Amino acid sequence: MSDKYDVIVIGGGPGGYVAAIRCAQLGMKVACVEEWINKQDKPALGGTCLNVGCIPSKALLESSERVEEIQHHNADHGISVEGIKVDVPQMIARKDAIVSKLTGGIAQLFQANGIEWLQGRGKLLADKVVQVTGHDGAVTTHAAENVIIATGSVPIELPIAKWLDDRIVHSTGALNWETVPDRLGVIGAGVIGLEMGSVWRRLGAEVIVLEAMDDFLGAADADVSKSSKMQFKKQGLDIRLSTKVSAVEALDEGIKVSYTDKKGEDSLVVDRLIVAVGRKPNTNDIADSAAGLQLDERGRVAVDDHCATNLPGVYAIGDCVRGPMLAHKSSEEGVMVAEQLAGQKPHMDHNMIPWVIYTDPEIAWVGQTEAELKAAGVAYRSGSFSFAVNGRAMAMDKAAGLVKVLADASTDRILGVHIVGPMASELVGQAVIAMECEASSEDLARMCFAHPSLSESMHEAILSVDGRALHGVNRKPKK
Ligand code: FAD
Ligand code: NAD
Repeated sequence: MSDKYDVIVIGGGPGGYVAAIRCAQLGMKVACVEEWINKQDKPALGGTCLNVGCIPSKALLESSERVEEIQHHNADHGISVEGIKVDVPQMIARKDAIVSKLTGGIAQLFQANGIEWLQGRGKLLADKVVQVTGHDGAVTTHAAENVIIATGSVPIELPIAKWLDDRIVHSTGALNWETVPDRLGVIGAGVIGLEMGSVWRRLGAEVIVLEAMDDFLGAADADVSKSSKMQFKKQGLDIRLSTKVSAVEALDEGIKVSYTDKKGEDSLVVDRLIVAVGRKPNTNDIADSAAGLQLDERGRVAVDDHCATNLPGVYAIGDCVRGPMLAHKSSEEGVMVAEQLAGQKPHMDHNMIPWVIYTDPEIAWVGQTEAELKAAGVAYRSGSFSFAVNGRAMAMDKAAGLVKVLADASTDRILGVHIVGPMASELVGQAVIAMECEASSEDLARMCFAHPSLSESMHEAILSVDGRALHGVNRKPKK
């Protein structure tokens, strides 16, 4: 057994590596166990997010959006481009280079912070001992004062649609195709379905998205989901709601997907299929039964508000515990646990975690939706403003979508901000700052926003909460 560590983190994704760095900053002796082997067959830090999630998907979304811009959105500007050639392998290579740079950067941060990277698979034994099985099979054990479990999540495989080479894939497969399928099927119109569906549609595939639920993007505010669905439809993304897939069969050529929708039973044949029906916590065999680690009914590590498990000195964070599966949520939990271990009193408000879907239009929100406020019986005022009349959005050729602000009817405190439109991912940060500072809509109404900017739509939505938007029609004009 090695010298005792103050903290051993199991998992080096955005939850685990951030927890390790913050613990080290606070003076603790830290090791992080990480088993990831990357596309180049090398051990890598960064987890799902950096290797096969947030970063590579955004790299391909960016490349494919450029293709779409050049092909379809230049004429109005008086620009014509001829002879466009799209080199998909180069696009994938660029994405891989970004991934390598970022994951290599985490390894450097570990070195700089004196964090030991224990390469291999970690398992919690009794009494906060962590067993590590190296990639060569060698087994070592390491004791710690505290253990942080950050083992993340894995894609859900449907029993009727088992992974099949590069034809029936989860998100990782769809991040690595070097040719564009003619016809692409996607099961699940959630975040991955929409982001990866958008990438391949922009590159030329006909994309059909089959979604079991009746509602589109049920977690989003209804106005946002309605507006985004209309825009996706206009782009040619064929989203079919209330469609339950009953069978998937790999043919010699193509994949037959049978389904039932409101009209009855039907089927379609696609060249490739992405299954994006959610992810599940990666908690299989992470702890020896002698350790006594408690999981919840959905297989996640059971934790309290402070990410403490049932075992004293053992914490769990990120995708493997309750709450949204988002990289920044994992990281925040990592920081919170590290600071607790250092004797600080950090607090994390799950209601302040922003959501972003990086499609075009981008979709982003923080706080509660109108439906959630209604269900909770909270009296609220609502204001919204369209990007259609925003000068900057027009100049960008992105004049569609809206900002919607919900404020408490009696205190005027901002309770939710919902955005669909250009740079929603960046605009939502303003809402997070305002809400964390417990701002009222009037506080923001009295602030000055640059002109012309997309932020003006945020300002106008806030003004319209009080019926005094200056560039839009107010529902309840105020004298
Ligand atoms: P992970 O990133 O999954 O990391 C867990 C790590 O633990 C892995 O490296 C794994 O190898 C390691 N591990 C697991 N078990 C063991 C073990 N026993 N021993 C050693 N190591 C182990 N989120 C966003 O916020 N924004 C986005 O834009 C976004 N885009 C995404 C796009 C895609 C295609 C996908 C799949 C996900 C995306 N996500 C996004 C979600 C995001 O990737 C996750 O929420 C985030 O990675 C969770 O971080 P984590 O540290 O909890 O887990
Ligand atoms: P998701 O939960 O976002 O969407 C899954 C969708 O599949 C849902 O709409 C669900 O109703 C549908 N579905 C489930 N079973 C189905 C079935 N049998 N047939 C048809 N439809 C079915 O999950 P995801 O898109 O797989 O993404 C997983 C997680 O990864 C997300 O929850 C998110 O937290 C994270 N992620 C985040 C981002 C981001 O932040 N931009 C991007 C990608 C992934």
